[in-house]
Amino acid sequence: IQTAPDEVFETYREVNLIDGKRVPARAGLDVINPATGLVLGRAAASDADETAGAIRSAKAAQTEWASLPARERGKRVAAAARAVAEHAELIAQVLARETGKAIRTECRGEVAVAADIMEFYGGLGSELKGQTVPYNPRMLTMTTREPLGVVAAIVPWNVPLVLFALKVGPALVAGNSVVVKSSEEAPFATFLMAEIMMAHLPAGVLNIVNGTGAICGNALTGHPDIAKITFTGSEAVGETIYKVGAARIIPVSLELGGKSPMIICEDADLDKAVAGAISGMRFTRQGQSCTAASRIYVHDSLIAPFMDQLGDALNRLVIGDPLDEATDIGTIINARQADTIKAYVAGAETTPGAKVIRFGTLPQDAGLSPDLFLQPTILTGLPDDHPCVMEEIFGPVAVVQGWSDYEKVISLANSTHYGLAASVWTRSLQTALDSTSRLDAGYVQVNQNLTIQPNVSYGGFGRSGLGKEASLEAMLEHFTRSKTIVMN
Ligand code: NAD
Repeated sequence: IQTAPDEVFETYREVNLIDGKRVPARAGLDVINPATGLVLGRAAASDADETAGAIRSAKAAQTEWASLPARERGKRVAAAARAVAEHAELIAQVLARETGKAIRTECRGEVAVAADIMEFYGGLGSELKGQTVPYNPRMLTMTTREPLGVVAAIVPWNVPLVLFALKVGPALVAGNSVVVKSSEEAPFATFLMAEIMMAHLPAGVLNIVNGTGAICGNALTGHPDIAKITFTGSEAVGETIYKVGAARIIPVSLELGGKSPMIICEDADLDKAVAGAISGMRFTRQGQSCTAASRIYVHDSLIAPFMDQLGDALNRLVIGDPLDEATDIGTIINARQADTIKAYVAGAETTPGAKVIRFGTLPQDAGLSPDLFLQPTILTGLPDDHPCVMEEIFGPVAVVQGWSDYEKVISLANSTHYGLAASVWTRSLQTALDSTSRLDAGYVQVNQNLTIQPNVSYGGFGRSGLGKEASLEAMLEHFTRSKTIVMN
């Protein structure tokens, strides 16, 4: 294993990980450090043929992997997870360089969570149980859990390692083999983590191909030997992938976008709610989070102190070099994403009655590319159906709206086509029970915003996706199939 980030970028120059080896690709693509604008390295730009090679390797390895006792597979995945934790600092340093996320507030935590998720799944081998069914006392009727075969796992750039772990951990423990398509924006930390894991896994059970979605991603999802697709990314690509799965009638899990509401009630603990707004909005990740609490509905009686306290807290966050230990907030991933965010904010700026408030100070360091650092931004006074209120911006931009009518705020919270997460801030058990039962979201919390727990299932309603990740339930439902056996 390499010891410095620069060595990592060189080691994985234009290669895929196939059958336990680094296999040179025929073409490459530049990976840019968003904080400096400089090229970090070249990753593989795999074509359909190279992608098929990874699927062949996964298919060849799967039967033997599935024939191991489930607990043994679990032990190997857990050992692989511990190896990741041992190399956490190097992986985090690579991740910070390719994603622009701050090393201290984001990247170290991401590696730790990824390792934790895989270790959790490593302990679940013996939970791959079926049932006996009381069908007829003179017959033995039972169900068993079988692996699906080769799983295609596609991850985005915003939290690539955690999303990798949520797919690869349960898929492997359940006896599948996996081909991961890494994000072309941020592939290197994924390659490093996977290669570290391979020291504990048989060749071929975990393969990584990198490339564009249009070529490599399409070749992967459409391949006849893929038995399951698990995808995290944008709604548009999710829709395309769902159709690809439908054409072959294979299961597809989708974790897509969100526009998660946060409802702060009159009786909320204000300090807690302000801290929750900052962590829920994922400002330290520049708001590039599917679960970002990007619509904050504050009771009219609290809106003035809420805005004051939120502004003070946001002004204290340091925007700067992702590798600097003092930095809280790094960069947007690329210029395209930054332009999209700026266009949304410009749309708010020209809306009558709306206010755009920016917080914090942009870094002036000569070595940093100025365009991809954005200030945390709060929008107020927007109409309820404004694009900034209804659509995922995927940037450090939250909408704050006042409310006084409880029924109306619940209906506003449910008014987008998303349904990933929601939170309610109240001291009343009655409000908590009522609102959580009525909010249309897959992950609803009271007095906190999302902290991923490997044992708690997570996934969206509506156009936020299909299926769950994390938890035993997700492993059983999404990475196994149930067989009924009747013995007369
Ligand atoms: P994206 O959809 O552009 O890309 C995601 C991945 O899909 C990349 O690896 C990309 O190469 C690949 N891809 C693109 N086209 C493909 C195709 N036709 N076939 C197969 N693969 C293809 O998303 P992104 O910009 O990388 O990530 C941001 C999006 O991800 C946001 O919308 C965000 O909400 C979502 N997201 C969701 C969750 C969740 O858990 N619900 C978590 C993180 C991010």
